[in-house]
Amino acid sequence: IIRLEAVNKWYGTFQVLTDIDLSVRTGERIVICGPSGSGKSTLIRCINRLETVQKGRIVVDGIELTAGGKNVDAVRAEVGMVFQQFNLFPHLTILQNCTLAPMRSRGMSKAQAEEVAMKYLTRVRIPDQAHKYPSQLSGGQQQRVAIARALCMSPKIMLFDEPTSALDPEMVKEVLDTMIGLAEDGMTMLCVTHEMGFARSVADRVIFMADGKIIEQGAPTEFFGNPKHEKTRQFLGQIL
Ligand code: ATP
Ligand code: MG
Repeated sequence: IIRLEAVNKWYGTFQVLTDIDLSVRTGERIVICGPSGSGKSTLIRCINRLETVQKGRIVVDGIELTAGGKNVDAVRAEVGMVFQQFNLFPHLTILQNCTLAPMRSRGMSKAQAEEVAMKYLTRVRIPDQAHKYPSQLSGGQQQRVAIARALCMSPKIMLFDEPTSALDPEMVKEVLDTMIGLAEDGMTMLCVTHEMGFARSVADRVIFMADGKIIEQGAPTEFFGNPKHEKTRQFLGQIL
């Protein structure tokens, strides 16, 4: 459902991604890890075209992300994204946060959009918060709203960029549990995270990046049990 071929990207003269080849099948759950600055966020942002690349090819659900950029809306409609900072609209209620995009870009009526929103807010177990504002919620609750909001667009793919790293420890679990639920429902997921417990139990494949390259990848048992590359071993030694 996602294919990257020989993707290269520069910020000015700095090469942030080098020869990235990556294929993701429908329903696959991928965890991406690696040191700070290795290009994880950049890579994941290329998949919904928050970033463009100078060289290589990216195809998402049959949509070619060409340099022209007219396919951006089509791809964004299919790819949900959840960030480290929850990025909710502060001046809108939780319910309004969830209904805005479906009404604007899916052409849903307010009633329809609210019904869908309540379904997903229930699924992330905060339907009772619908009429509050983001600042009135805990970090874990806000992140679950961000997930619900993305789901309201019925995405085929969900991208997560360190969704738990801005949270207090006691709130990490509730967000991870929500993500585990999504995985169990068969969602195609790419998660940048250093939650290695999550990677072990949920990921079909763990990808390790360093210096803008994919250094190593494999099933969790193989990846954690028998890391092949020195940089992978160093990294795992630091975080485990
Ligand atoms: P972290 O774990 O800290 O989130 P990361 O692996 O997500 O790191 P990226 O955010 O993708 O790394 O950044 C990769 C490199 O590109 C870094 O060296 C960063 O400084 C640089 N970079 C990121 N965004 C920009 C930008 N908009 N302009 C210039 N350089 C950038
Ligand atoms: Mg990052």
